[in-house]
Amino acid sequence: MSTAVSRGTSPVPPARQPRLTVLSGPSGVGKSTVVAHMRKAHPEVWLSVSATTRKPRPGERDGVHYFFVDDEEFDKLIANGELLEWAEFAGNRYGTPRQAVLDRLEAGEPVLLEIDLQGARQVRTSMPDAQLVFLAPPSWDELVRRLTGRGTESPEVIERRLAAAKIELAAETEFDVTLVNTSVEDVARELLALLR
Ligand code: ADP
Ligand code: 5GP
Repeated sequence: MSTAVSRGTSPVPPARQPRLTVLSGPSGVGKSTVVAHMRKAHPEVWLSVSATTRKPRPGERDGVHYFFVDDEEFDKLIANGELLEWAEFAGNRYGTPRQAVLDRLEAGEPVLLEIDLQGARQVRTSMPDAQLVFLAPPSWDELVRRLTGRGTESPEVIERRLAAAKIELAAETEFDVTLVNTSVEDVARELLALLR
């Protein structure tokens, strides 16, 4: 198994202080897998739980993987200003509950968001100190294999997600750091180091 490669340079923060880190990358690249691997060894790493209008996949639990809400509830979250950022992705809406993130940052704890490109751009605007990390696939064909192999989406939804992936891959240079997900173990280690 080859090692993960860091591409690009990152403006290194002057001090290692708790901060907000955003992990983005195309659907199927392995974001959830990497984060789950890292948190298995380091359960203290706090990951924001997003709200979504997407239906749960088998095994996904409300309040753990997402807060699963209907369209009306999501509208209310937006109207009440309860979301730090939100976006529509491949036919569903996703958003980051604001207060939990602010509470963690205020307590001096590092915060990790796993969100799409549109959300990452919103965070960059509203919180310029945030660290933006892009998770890239080793190749396009491998991304297609992973997304298809996961077996959680219909062919139509896979097509929508691959269309979004082309846009996300083209935006890699907007991020501070790129990690290539060749080895889950290596990327999880690199991500942990970036959080600290
Ligand atoms: P994302 O959260 O980015 O949508 P997932 O974490 O669900 O992606 O991963 C998509 C699929 O790719 C899963 O089946 C997962 O097991 C697989 N996968 C993730 N990382 C790797 C890797 N480094 N090598 C091979 N397969 C991987
Ligand atoms: P999935 O349906 O595969 O769980 O997630 C689809 C996409 O939505 C992924 O790129 C994921 O990172 C993104 N996503 C998950 N939660 C949020 C969120 O709160 N905000 C935004 N903008 N994107 C999110």
